[in-house]
Amino acid sequence: MVMSFECECGNRTAFFATGDRDENGREYIELEDDDRMTYMIGEDGLLFKCKFCGYVYRLDKL
Ligand SMILES: [Zn+2]
Repeated sequence: MVMSFECECGNRTAFFATGDRDENGREYIELEDDDRMTYMIGEDGLLFKCKFCGYVYRLDKL
């Protein structure tokens, strides 16, 4: 497991390293269970949406 995420409602999922790398050696990660959580990359950052309660979290672009 690379990273775990838990919503306020208790819904929890994790990101796993896939073992695949891009041309810069960066490894891809994937959601463990996309029935629990989805993520989208928007122009203003990364959005995580909980599929249990519908709450959306936003991670700002640095
Ligand atoms: Zn939730």
